[in-house]
Amino acid sequence: MKLNLSALLRGSEKELFATTVLQYGDIALQEEYLFRHPINVQVRVENRAGSLKLFAAIDTQLTVHCARCLQEIDVPLSIDFESLLSEKLENEDAENILPIHDATIDLEEILYETIILHVEPRYFCDEDCKGLCPVCGRNLNENACTCKNEAADPRLAVLKQLLK
Ligand SMILES: [Zn+2]
Ligand SMILES: [Zn+2]
Repeated sequence: MKLNLSALLRGSEKELFATTVLQYGDIALQEEYLFRHPINVQVRVENRAGSLKLFAAIDTQLTVHCARCLQEIDVPLSIDFESLLSEKLENEDAENILPIHDATIDLEEILYETIILHVEPRYFCDEDCKGLCPVCGRNLNENACTCKNEAADPRLAVLKQLLK
C-alpha cells in the first residue's frame, strides 16, 4: 500500500483518506495462524501545522486452532495505530516515525509487522472449552466419553498394580 503525499506536503490538502484490502492468503505463522480472510485497512493522514500524522485501522479475522480442542475457529482481529511521518529521518528505525521517500510512503511492511505483533500466542474456541480426552482423544465439548481419568494418574496406576 503506497500513498502519494505530495498534496499534503505542499499544504494544498489537509487530509488524505485511503483504503485497501490485503490478501495474505494461506500464510501460516508457526503453522498455526492462517490469514484466510481479507484484511481491511483504512488509513487517514493529516497535516497538522506542517507535520504529518498517520492513523490506520486494520480489521480482519484469523483462522486458528483452539489450543485445547484443536477445532478450527475464526477470531476477529482489529487494530488501531498511529504514527508520525517524516521526510528527514536520520535513523530509519526511529520508533513511531515512518520515513517518507519522494513524497511517498510505503505501508506494506509496517502493516504486516503490526498484524503479526497483535497475534496472540493461543486462542480458545470458548473460555470453558473442555478440550480433548487425554485417553481416547475425543472432543469433550461434543460428547463425554467413558474413559476413566485415573488411568492418566501414575500414582493410581501403581496402586492398581498392587491390588492385582
Ligand atoms: Zn476448544
Ligand atoms: Zn476418552
